[in-house]
Amino acid sequence: MSGNRELDDILQRAADGGRISPEEALLLYTDAPLHPLGEAADAVRRRRYPDGIVTYIIDRNINYTNVCVTACKFCAFYRAPKHAEGWSHSLDEILRRCAEAVALGATQVMLQGGHHPDFGVEYYEELFSSVKREFPDLVIHSIGPSEVLHMAKVSGTSIEEALRRIKAAGLDSIAGAGAEMLPARPRTAIAPLKESGERWLEVMETAHHLGIESTATMMMGTGETNAERIEHMRMIRDVQDRTGGFRSFIPWTYQPENNHLKGRTQATSLEYLRLIAVARLFFHNVAHLQSSWLTTGKDVGQVSLHMGVDDLGSIMLEENVISSAGARHRSKLTELVEMIRTAGRIPAQRDTRYNHLRVHWTPADDPTDERVVSHFSSIAMPGGGAGRSLPLVETR
Ligand code: SF4
Repeated sequence: MSGNRELDDILQRAADGGRISPEEALLLYTDAPLHPLGEAADAVRRRRYPDGIVTYIIDRNINYTNVCVTACKFCAFYRAPKHAEGWSHSLDEILRRCAEAVALGATQVMLQGGHHPDFGVEYYEELFSSVKREFPDLVIHSIGPSEVLHMAKVSGTSIEEALRRIKAAGLDSIAGAGAEMLPARPRTAIAPLKESGERWLEVMETAHHLGIESTATMMMGTGETNAERIEHMRMIRDVQDRTGGFRSFIPWTYQPENNHLKGRTQATSLEYLRLIAVARLFFHNVAHLQSSWLTTGKDVGQVSLHMGVDDLGSIMLEENVISSAGARHRSKLTELVEMIRTAGRIPAQRDTRYNHLRVHWTPADDPTDERVVSHFSSIAMPGGGAGRSLPLVETR
């Protein structure tokens, strides 16, 4: 406990699974000492997951195009239409990458890309149905509300029709991409052409009502205030109260290279860890909390396991978007499992729905496949190997 009566009362109520207000969450974020804050968040994790299991998933982010009309100021990945470095993968290339991922044990693919001016609902229908036809067991956890809005606009459909059609084509769930900061002031400052935060949530709510669940993300560190970080979480929690469709909350930190914001602001590791802990206490209605070793580093990722986190996310066989902006952390399956184990937790491979596929109860159960490494074909990473047939994205 912190020794401050007001803070202790809030921490205790949240640790017991009670609901705290946004004002109380902000007070914890700014004023609670780190250790009592982390302890309360970890108490929530222990109550939810008394077996001590921390999960990971094997998946691959495949980017179908870097062509985008939305020009977010924090983005180092996109190229404007007609730019010489713009590219779009053929369907054959995407399927080849899916096959590679499946061979390495991936259970999920994240198909993510820019807002290409020609890519309407029909493009995504063909993409998802082709992947499902070739790899029926590969879960398509992909795109985000921004892509849904863009494809609906290109094809002249409603949001609901676009969602129904891509679900029928094979989309299993929606990744929480594009959330960045949902409140209007910081969102307009970093992504003036993107949909509003309310619109992002409207797509998610519509998807949830259609039986398409999702995750929710947050990008911190682009100059938003502490209050705006909490407001972002409030907006998500309010939708979750109505739908229950968010499986996980996944905050990550803005990466400073090669984008228009030029790294003028960044979140510190301590800010990130405090946010993680407050998120666990605030989201009493969201089951899972994932930390980002890719953007914060493996050490911070491991510390987060003592601040309420129950999922370390993906091994990232391929990732180009955040890596283009300077995230250089790499890992491999055996190392990820070791990180979880040496934090005193039991590692388990999960599927997209957080079902345990393999629990590594003892070190003797640990995976040994050294081929499963992050960025084994990420074209934005130096030495990112197998992007062989593709033009390199200039990152420096
Ligand atoms: S973040 Fe997405 S929508 Fe924004 S510019 Fe980059 S690719 Fe386009």
